[in-house]
Amino acid sequence: MPAAATQTTTELVAQVCGRFGHDRTRLMDMLWALQKALRGIDKATQALLAQELGTRRVVIEGMVSFYAFFTDRPTGRLAIRLCDDVIDRHAGMEEISRTLQQELGLGLEQTSADGLFSLHHTPCIGLSDQAPALLVNEVPVTRLTPERARELIRWLRRNPDPAGLAQTLVGDFAPLGDGCNADPLIHSLVENQIRLPGPVLFAEHRPFSGLQAALQQSPAQLIAELSRSGLRGRGGAGFPTGRKWDFTHRPPAERRYLICNADEGEPGTFKDRVLLTEKPDLLIEGMVIAARAIGCAEGIIYLRAEYEYLLAWLENRLAAARAAGWLGQAIGGVQGFDFDIRIQMGAGAYVCGEESALISSCEGLRGEPKNRPPFPAERGYLGCPTCVDNVETLACAARIFAEGADWFRALGTEQSSGSKLLSISGDCARPGVYEVEFGVSIAELLALVGAEQTGAVLVGGPSGQFIGADQFERRIGFEDLPTGGALLIFNQSRNLLQVVNHYLDFFIDESCGYCTPCRVGTVFMKKRMEKLVKGSAEPSDLDYLKNLGATLRASSRCGLGLTAPNPVLSTMEHFPMIYSALVKPPKDGQHAYFDIQAALEESRHLAKRRSMIYDVDYEN
Ligand code: SF4
Repeated sequence: MPAAATQTTTELVAQVCGRFGHDRTRLMDMLWALQKALRGIDKATQALLAQELGTRRVVIEGMVSFYAFFTDRPTGRLAIRLCDDVIDRHAGMEEISRTLQQELGLGLEQTSADGLFSLHHTPCIGLSDQAPALLVNEVPVTRLTPERARELIRWLRRNPDPAGLAQTLVGDFAPLGDGCNADPLIHSLVENQIRLPGPVLFAEHRPFSGLQAALQQSPAQLIAELSRSGLRGRGGAGFPTGRKWDFTHRPPAERRYLICNADEGEPGTFKDRVLLTEKPDLLIEGMVIAARAIGCAEGIIYLRAEYEYLLAWLENRLAAARAAGWLGQAIGGVQGFDFDIRIQMGAGAYVCGEESALISSCEGLRGEPKNRPPFPAERGYLGCPTCVDNVETLACAARIFAEGADWFRALGTEQSSGSKLLSISGDCARPGVYEVEFGVSIAELLALVGAEQTGAVLVGGPSGQFIGADQFERRIGFEDLPTGGALLIFNQSRNLLQVVNHYLDFFIDESCGYCTPCRVGTVFMKKRMEKLVKGSAEPSDLDYLKNLGATLRASSRCGLGLTAPNPVLSTMEHFPMIYSALVKPPKDGQHAYFDIQAALEESRHLAKRRSMIYDVDYEN
């Protein structure tokens, strides 16, 4: 046993492993149990866990270092994670960060001497419509102001019990959120802000009526009906869902799996959060129908760590579905149709939104994307045919079987049937969730949300594209502007280059590092962007950025690398003036704008001395 490990830790590790049957595919759950109990999984604990599971410590270390919510150094009993997305910054996040640091007497990534608090920045936590926001452990706190941040810390000093936080913080501190956010199992400050309920997802629905209708049909009929509806995946890529179900159903296999992607990590997206809060039964219903069509007995909801505050609520809805006979054995009285769902918590890795990375994570591995082919429909979770659909897609499926494929097909446009949930945030009067039919224009949306003097809209989040005023007549849909659902609005006073640079940092941080074009290319892009911002770029730097972006798109292994150059490339295409204003041609063919002082700074730092030639006040 490692010297640093105590008997208590040894017992805890054994007990946690026992709880999950020493099944290494449940490593995420084991790490979560240890992280919660110990507030960090140090090297000694990693060694104990490896020993208990019969694996090497480096495997455990690889997991702990991969996921942002796991750490090998103890966090505070109250780990405060302040969202530092662009929208939060524009809403005053940096002042909140300074206030928290002053109030706590802590820097970022530091833990207070009494072990009570630690402070961290974190990417988008799915609350852009009520920014600035943070998490205290799993509890979201929204609409922060400096005064509110100070009040929060004082309140937490008086009531420092994380277990009781969700039950006691709200109410004293601020009113509860609306709708099911007020349910005792959620009890959260979060607001749904459903500004426009549409005809599909937020319409009246008799629970499990779609499933009852679906149980009258064979799996082949279900797949045919879904294909006829024209439903396409709501994650943004838009793969036809009926075809995906068919591909998963076809290969002969003893077991097949269905995974609901509730990772929703795209900055600026939060509509799945609202569906999980208000329509969990619709999601469960859609999953059961999918399971019937595909022929699988086990389903997983992969829930992002930032939405852990919804876990008890979702477990409760699963239990209610079991009690009603909609999950478990002989569902709806159909002998041989057995299906159940478990929830897999994620741990803060954007790349896990990519379906093969999400599968890796469910298997207890680092959330690294897998090579394709084989595709998940052929060989996915634990080597079995697996269908991965997102929350909105599965909820749509339930409505399609309740109302019929023709009803769904009649909504939206030719290639984009049905409605789309949009998460709208940024510079507008009414941020929130809007359910619109496909085909709505950006101009119509801007009017709807009360956006004025809009300079740019980021459609689909940073992996989507920036468009300017001359393109606001373009329409949401697979024919023109596909989107997973994020619409971020920037008024004319915002510095777009700063925004682009922020998202490059985001992609650099979130790259899993597996392939060189993504790992290195994003860093090189950032360096050129910095040169541009400093005013030392030449026209050739723009060509360099375009070529590098094209290389990333052509040679990256997964969607993260393929889309990482989008903020740069789409602003270069749609806002060329920003770039041309900053670029200067070289004089006499020389690099006239090379900044020798900036280039020397690093050498000064490394050599710990100054330059005899370039530092005029050089003395020794
Ligand atoms: S593209 Fe980036 S995130 Fe995707 S596998 Fe390669 S390094 Fe990892």
